[in-house]
Amino acid sequence: MVQNESSLRIAIQKGGRLSEKSQTLLENIGLEFDSYKNRILTPCRNYDVELLLIRDDDIPEYVRDGICELGIVGHNVTAESGVQVERLRGLGFGRCRVSVAVPKNSGFDSVDKLDRCRIATSYPALTRKFFQEKGLEVAIIEISGAVEIAPTLNVADAIVDVVSTGGTLKTNGLTELEIILESEAEIIQTRRPVPDHKQELIDKFMMRIGARQQAERSRYIMMNAPSDAVETICGIIPALKSPTVLPLAENEMVAIHSVIPTMHFWEVMEDLKSAGASGIVILPIENMIV
Ligand code: ATP
Ligand code: ZN
Repeated sequence: MVQNESSLRIAIQKGGRLSEKSQTLLENIGLEFDSYKNRILTPCRNYDVELLLIRDDDIPEYVRDGICELGIVGHNVTAESGVQVERLRGLGFGRCRVSVAVPKNSGFDSVDKLDRCRIATSYPALTRKFFQEKGLEVAIIEISGAVEIAPTLNVADAIVDVVSTGGTLKTNGLTELEIILESEAEIIQTRRPVPDHKQELIDKFMMRIGARQQAERSRYIMMNAPSDAVETICGIIPALKSPTVLPLAENEMVAIHSVIPTMHFWEVMEDLKSAGASGIVILPIENMIV
């Protein structure tokens, strides 16, 4: 596809925790790119879009300024930047939280106890806002990496940092006290005016993302059952509102096909078997347009 001034531009993280999943998401909605390696701007072969690969911290500003119309970035980064952009959709990956953590056995059993303490963080804006809203005065020590070591070095009494499993905190003898912000990767859009043809590209792009997310939350289920068990089976899976029921060559048996929420399946599998279902097959769905 010929790239020109009017291609839609999407910023994603160049190298880091969100890079691979952002690229996979774009590939899963049918976008084909040449190599991402060593390129800042990567054109797409089959959609009028180009990718800008940059540090995640720069993404909110690039989107705010309209250098890119869209960006894929952690909500923690957007929130910390404080920039005004439109959040279009959470993406369900890169989940983490920004939390206050303190050394174990420090005696800090609530954030109120941190009044007049020193807090090390790479999230000064979120930290300031959090403590101000609680009416607590703290000294913020801004550190760009390895924040978790600050209490051991006696640089700070507590930290505010990104936590996912809590493993890093544990290794450093820290314990999580309070969550400031829940985060996942999100798609943001510039609030600058976007020409109609680009807005159309954005709408189509978001429709594809929606279809992919819906598909990921759903499974195609097939099973065989005695025909007189259909009603019971539909009662077990409320989502099976109007399943496809096909007669089988075997007497009084039918095949039941439907789409159900993934989680539902594991909850009801035993009940389906008790109701007489057999040969239960569950398949992933690639895309789903509802
Ligand atoms: P960059 O070089 O682009 O500035 P970075 O070092 O700031 O990268 P990464 O560590 O790659 O950032 O994390 C990117 C994003 O992944 C975070 O902003 C956050 O949204 C998300 N994330 C998920 N789990 C974690 C985690 N355990 N620690 C840090 N970030 C996490
Ligand atoms: Zn970063």
